[in-house]
Amino acid sequence: MQYDFIGFFKNLNAYAAIDFILLLAVVAVIICFFIYKRNVKVLFLLLGAAVLDIAVNVGANALADSHALQIAKYITHFVVIFNIVAACVVYQSDLKNIFQKVSAARNIELHNSSDELRASTLEILTACQDMAKQDVGAIIIIDSKGDINDTILDSGTRLDAVLSAPLLESIFITKGPLHDGAVIVRGNRIIAAGCFLTLTQRNVNKEMGTRHRAAIGVTEDTDVLSIVVSEETGIISVVKHGEIKRYMTMDKLNDEIEMAYGISANVKAVIGRQQTNKKKHKNRRFL
Ligand code: ATP
Ligand code: MG
Repeated sequence: MQYDFIGFFKNLNAYAAIDFILLLAVVAVIICFFIYKRNVKVLFLLLGAAVLDIAVNVGANALADSHALQIAKYITHFVVIFNIVAACVVYQSDLKNIFQKVSAARNIELHNSSDELRASTLEILTACQDMAKQDVGAIIIIDSKGDINDTILDSGTRLDAVLSAPLLESIFITKGPLHDGAVIVRGNRIIAAGCFLTLTQRNVNKEMGTRHRAAIGVTEDTDVLSIVVSEETGIISVVKHGEIKRYMTMDKLNDEIEMAYGISANVKAVIGRQQTNKKKHKNRRFL
């Protein structure tokens, strides 16, 4: 038997359309919830109202009477709409962040060629090497997907300057007004400096203080690469998704930055090389 798609769309009424839009809104709120894991009460209110609304509509259809449950339908629709408005108010900063993330990612794709990103990689490497030698502390966040939100950017000073090693070094130079906090890099531009990051709450090596905790914290809910230069030891570390790798050589750091920029000539080769290095390292421990 063939399904009558045209008949289905002809029979769709305004209520069905509203129900569909409401359902999409519910899905959007669920996604927001899973991304940000909070405001659980608003989510349950909205879900409850949506389930009630669907139940009333199904009940009305089952009665095969177009006037059945009219008041219930109005009330449940009204409650769902009220809840969507409430959810939009409660989640407003989260929604704003999502829209900003989408537009920032698009801007980066539009404005940077691979050559520019390779040149920026070299500038970051040079700055890290110089700062490590001089025991200057630094946190550089490479935010290729626009994951860093306005709250973090506004906690520091917005710059939007072309990235260069001398600029990075002068930002982090001790006693400079912007040296405290993180620099945020998007493509070949320094977006902001002196930014305050949320520290990780996890138990980390006691050797690592607030700079390393901040560098780990920012990667826990985002897809950014954190580069840390230790003021105390000159050790360069990178952090991705909460996992810190210490003792970066220039080669390894280059691979990590290129991967964060998405310009690695052969990402598979880099990952392969990293895995071989890991194995070598493991084997060495058992020798
Ligand atoms: P280092 O190895 O460089 O000493 P550390 O991990 O031991 O680093 P601290 O010695 O506590 O950390 O470093 C303090 C510096 O870390 C501050 O001066 C500031 O620049 C930076 N920092 C501390 N907290 C934050 C934060 N929440 N966000 C961004 N930067 C921070
Ligand atoms: Mg310290």
